[in-house]
Amino acid sequence: LRLRQKVMGQLQEKYKSYRTPQKFMKAGVYPYFREITSMQGTEVTDIDGHKILMFGSNAYTGLPSDPRIIAASHAALDKYGTGCAGSRFLNGTLDLHIKLEKEIAKYIGKEDVLGYSTGFSVNEGVLSVVVGRGDYIICDDRDHASIVDGRRLSFATQLHYKHNDMEDLERVLAKLPHEAIKLIVVDGVFSMEGDLAKLPQIVELKHKYNCSVMVDEAHGIGVFGREGRGVCDHFGLTDEVDLIMGTFSKSLASIGGFIASDFDTINWLRHTSRTYIFSASNSPAATAAALEALHILQKEPERIEHLWDVTNYALKRFREEGFEIGDTESPIIPLYVHDVDKTFLVTKLAYDAGVFINPVIPPACAPQDTLVRFALMATHTKDQVDQAIEILKKIFMDMDLLKK
Ligand code: PMP
Repeated sequence: LRLRQKVMGQLQEKYKSYRTPQKFMKAGVYPYFREITSMQGTEVTDIDGHKILMFGSNAYTGLPSDPRIIAASHAALDKYGTGCAGSRFLNGTLDLHIKLEKEIAKYIGKEDVLGYSTGFSVNEGVLSVVVGRGDYIICDDRDHASIVDGRRLSFATQLHYKHNDMEDLERVLAKLPHEAIKLIVVDGVFSMEGDLAKLPQIVELKHKYNCSVMVDEAHGIGVFGREGRGVCDHFGLTDEVDLIMGTFSKSLASIGGFIASDFDTINWLRHTSRTYIFSASNSPAATAAALEALHILQKEPERIEHLWDVTNYALKRFREEGFEIGDTESPIIPLYVHDVDKTFLVTKLAYDAGVFINPVIPPACAPQDTLVRFALMATHTKDQVDQAIEILKKIFMDMDLLKK
């Protein structure tokens, strides 16, 4: 107690009343930081040794446990050691980083690419400097937190429009000076709701109002487009999108991220983007893993075919059973609950019954739209989907959350 009194400064005074997490811990439904002691497969082992069906992962291609990727990572560790001890700008660039950037550029279909150490730092480091004073940045109001933080750091005027509402976007654009730089930024696949950006309409508006467009493909790569090239490729609009962002942490079984664009834009970012210049480069093992995953993605299109087979099966079954799943068109299936306490309870009951799903509450969604997020991987079987749906159906039925 004496120690506590001693450290009671202004900050401690301010935060001592923040007890929301403790409230949920006390109720036994706190759903975060659940410890896993195995690989991120379709079945994981938790700290108590229980086997849990994993439907809370972003590894859509199911690759993090692939032996070829693990071997490539091992080889990079042996050759380059554990870390590069510096930023890409100075001592931290390996031939491996350059190889990955070149291959991503070719795969995505852009002139040049920069690799960062996380996807979050791509959005933060790109948006903060790609537009500046006198420019405008216009975001969908459900864009990812990293886009929100990146735009906040830029000196551009910040505007947003209602989620996927093209009339609202046009209303915003129509007021802006024709000659000014105006960047529209969207998630290609919205990470919590699983719906897609209306890219064809956005590109039409781009031309009508003289704008530029950036698409975050975090959840598009490995899922949409030829050999998983993403939503821009899916719509055949890669050339129309000025900047394409992606991460290595989901379908590419690693960690890190990239920005792809034309030579001149990348030249600007390479020399101004602060999370690229002032942060250490991605580790050799992580870089080699992403590179190997990229090769597998292109060699084995059947993985994505299977992902869609099991996704379509799950979508159909959830709809038939009366779950409210919104407008999803992807392996991200939101199961709407519309109440924070109930969302945590569903998560906990599902976990105890052997199904790992994630709760989504504000600020990750609108307050009235809380949900549990069920996500598929290429390695899931229909039998695993059936097992999970039976468990979830009982929980949702008992809580009166299914449509009649
Ligand atoms: N953009 C979107 C849409 C995301 O969902 C995420 C990760 N949740 C990121 C960016 C950040 O990527 P990373 O986890 O690789 O930092």
